[in-house]
Amino acid sequence: MNSPDDILAELRRLRATDAPTHGGRVLSYVYDSGLAIVDSLAADASALVQPVNGLDPTTFGSVAAIERDLISFSRTAFGSSDAVGSVTSGGTESCILAVLSAREFTRTPAGTGNIVIPSTAHAAFDKAGKLLGVSVRRVPVDPTTTRADADAIADAVDDDTILLVGSAPNYPTGTLDPIVELGDLALRRGVGLHVDACLGGLALAWWPTPLPDWDLRVPGVTSLSADFHKYGYAPKGASVLLHTDRDRHRAAYFATTDWPGYPVVNPTLLGSKSVAGAAAAWAITRYLGDTGFTGLVADIAGTVETLVDVVDGIDGLRIVGDPAGPVFTVATDPAATTPIDPHRWADEVSARGFTLQPQPAYVQADGSTLAASTHLTITPVTSAVIDELSQALREGADAAYGLERSVAPAALRELAAAFDSGAISIDDALALDSASTEAVLIGAGIDPHTDPADAADSLDLSAVITAIESLPTPITAKMLAEFLAAYSNPSP
Ligand SMILES: *Cc1c(COP(=O)(O)O)cnc(C)c1O
Repeated sequence: MNSPDDILAELRRLRATDAPTHGGRVLSYVYDSGLAIVDSLAADASALVQPVNGLDPTTFGSVAAIERDLISFSRTAFGSSDAVGSVTSGGTESCILAVLSAREFTRTPAGTGNIVIPSTAHAAFDKAGKLLGVSVRRVPVDPTTTRADADAIADAVDDDTILLVGSAPNYPTGTLDPIVELGDLALRRGVGLHVDACLGGLALAWWPTPLPDWDLRVPGVTSLSADFHKYGYAPKGASVLLHTDRDRHRAAYFATTDWPGYPVVNPTLLGSKSVAGAAAAWAITRYLGDTGFTGLVADIAGTVETLVDVVDGIDGLRIVGDPAGPVFTVATDPAATTPIDPHRWADEVSARGFTLQPQPAYVQADGSTLAASTHLTITPVTSAVIDELSQALREGADAAYGLERSVAPAALRELAAAFDSGAISIDDALALDSASTEAVLIGAGIDPHTDPADAADSLDLSAVITAIESLPTPITAKMLAEFLAAYSNPSP
């Protein structure tokens, strides 16, 4: 046996290789309130429920009490006094359950229904469609505003449509969809409308400037998801899915007595489950309350305003669409005298100490393109580093002037050309086994057996993003899955 001290020392060494989760240096994935007490309170709350099994709130009454409070807190935040819902492990689970609820509520057999979503909706809905046998219609958004187009969505709805989705706001550009118009459409067509507020719902609910209506108050909205592990500042593992209709909520439950064991009643996807995330979220919502959230969100809003001004002041870059909330995205300004590539800019900003998130260009179903961009998630802690960050954004732009897009590794460019010319068919490539797929990756200089501690240095992310844009989407998906599977497994 190893000593507990040695084991923890080893874990600390591993953690030291991670991107910094605190301090505002990473502008995606992590949501830092900047308040040490929030983190220590969450850790203590998680530890207190560590041995509890969230599977059975009748045996562990604390689970029911925590969930009641979280649902009560969130339905008030989102404008309903009587919505019902479930606490889930995260946004993906909330979105999958929203689709499951719609499928079951409408008694639609797997393989027949469809959901109609803006092309900017989160990929979690594709995952839901794949798992649940529901087809997903991604409808182009206006490439300039990046806002969902309710008329285009209406055109995609048919008798098999079980659910519409709007984002509040969306992940790729931070834009708020026209929920009122979508609600109107949902009522006219007699289908459900899910508002995906996973990302920023818990920020928009306290946003200091007026926003168009977007929450449970909007007629036609049937469900809403929001992640406590984003702008609820909780550790990962806590989200909520609210329904305006009790029967829609119940529709997603799995319950059976048709086996010899205990009666199984699951509101969510897991069986035995941790309560750590929910207990942490519960503690944080009780600590911050309305006043705490108001203050943190006001801080975020001020930071967003400042940073948007910084980007507006850079010739060569533009803010994409019309972000409303804590997230915005930056792309090349084609009208500028010297356009700046947003991924080169992200690389240069990264060299100055701040990690931004590159997003590939995306060709919508109608052929229009959402430009390649760089995403920034602003959290309360960002204000603590705002001067340094503003300087890094400006200096990064100066350094990126005139730099061309990164090129994909040669092997991947050859592969893209082979698909273009028809020398390789997509079906043949998808039939490649894991070992051959890995060989292609290694040939392209993307080695999944890199030591995780060195990965950030040895992988050229911008070049990988360029490759993603040039290859057929099913192929990149297959290669990325192969990469991550090999990366997270022991080397052969
Ligand atoms: C993060 C996110 C999700 C998925 O949530 P996870 O917690 O990562 O599973 C869904 N929708 C939006 C808009 C998100 O930002």
